[in-house]
Amino acid sequence: MISELHRRITDHEISVRELLEQSLKQINERDGDIHAFLSVYDTDALYKRADRLQQLIDDGACEQSLLAGIPIAIKDNICTSDLPTTCGSDMLKDYTPPYDATVVECLRDAGAIIIGKTNMDEFAFGSTTETSAFFPTKNPLDTSRVPGGSSGGSAAAVASGMVNIALGSDTGGSIRQPAAYCGLTSLKPTYGMVSRYGLVAYASSMDQIAPIAGCISDCAILLDTIGGADPKDPTCLPGERKRLSNTDTTGVESMTVGVYTDGADDRIAALVREVADIFREHGASVEEFVPEHIKYMVPAYYVIACAEGSSNLERYDGVRYGHRSQDYTSVQEMIQNSRNEAFGDELKRRILLGTYVLSSGFYDEYYLQALKVRRLIQQSYDKAFEHFDLILIPTTASIAPKLGESLSDPIKMYQGDIYTVAANLTGCPAAAFPCGHISSLPVGAQLMAARFGEDKLIRAISVLERVTIHNNKQEQNQNERRL
Ligand code: GLN
Repeated sequence: MISELHRRITDHEISVRELLEQSLKQINERDGDIHAFLSVYDTDALYKRADRLQQLIDDGACEQSLLAGIPIAIKDNICTSDLPTTCGSDMLKDYTPPYDATVVECLRDAGAIIIGKTNMDEFAFGSTTETSAFFPTKNPLDTSRVPGGSSGGSAAAVASGMVNIALGSDTGGSIRQPAAYCGLTSLKPTYGMVSRYGLVAYASSMDQIAPIAGCISDCAILLDTIGGADPKDPTCLPGERKRLSNTDTTGVESMTVGVYTDGADDRIAALVREVADIFREHGASVEEFVPEHIKYMVPAYYVIACAEGSSNLERYDGVRYGHRSQDYTSVQEMIQNSRNEAFGDELKRRILLGTYVLSSGFYDEYYLQALKVRRLIQQSYDKAFEHFDLILIPTTASIAPKLGESLSDPIKMYQGDIYTVAANLTGCPAAAFPCGHISSLPVGAQLMAARFGEDKLIRAISVLERVTIHNNKQEQNQNERRL
């Protein structure tokens, strides 16, 4: 927990260097097998930063910053001017951006120690981290399984204890689904809450940078640090943000929660309904909720995501930056071969789908139609949130699949996003959090709120975390008594 680490650092129970050493030791010991990181900063440079921060902390200059001296990992589609930003693609294999993303600037200003960049599905198109051009990442809780995706490297880095916190991105569930598969907590904020400047674009109308951590208060601290207006991103909303780490977390008494679990594995549905019971016991009123247009959500999402994705990927032509083929006789051939050599199969599939739905003759039938469906979905959630404070759903319909199991059936993989895409299509915030296990593998539940309702998510998940801590303590006491 960041607040506890901050206390230990400021009380001099642990030095910034020792904390960093713990992270690097864990990376050395486990990352050869897990493959969470694509690049890690030079150790000397990291230690230098740690010592500089220690000095500032000792001088009392960092009391306000809970992140001072805390190691963090960053997904490799977020630009860093001093470490490559590959997006998990051969196209950007040797690319180091000339600037830092706004969120990276915020983290550096807050005194966080960025350790390195994490593996991901190529350009964030995927759900398993297996479409990375470099290697798949393994789920630290069961290395025969995927950690989820596309932010699988960030999730694996936190779940294996290499770092306490990480940043990923979420276009259709890419931070929440890995959180579910790895037993972690993540919060995709309202669209426009965090600057996208320096986030390599996938589907610009849905992309958001988001934190992943071991508890909701760490997500709140990270969002306080990276959220805020940014003139460099015109879609980033102006004005002050609520201070999420100051959220009143006392209870859910006056809240109305809508619950929906259709389509999930029965055991997952039962665990999500146990969460609903806890809310009820704490005074919330819980009602059934049936999302309108549910069967159109995944198709609308994939039409829009592929359309925007294919147009965003047009810039990778081997001319200004990115991979350039050595095998060509004309400019046209150079562009074709560069793209052909450096893009993976899943990316090519999405580019074809995207250009198809945008092509004249099909534009009205697919792209425009998907935009209309999106508007209907948005309206139905606006209406739902007039009544409900929160909507409780599973994060995924099943537990983490085995490595190699998903890629052969892309449609099935796309359908796996059924519970996560609504938050991106509507721009609403949504948080994923652990709610139990199926044969020792974690299961994730999810809460969605109206736009700017992050504080309600934090309030409700804090209640659950307190119940879990209490239950775990009781179980531990019982076990000790039995011994
Ligand atoms: N699995 C979804 C997709 O492939 C979500 C990806 C994401 O959120 N970046 O589009």
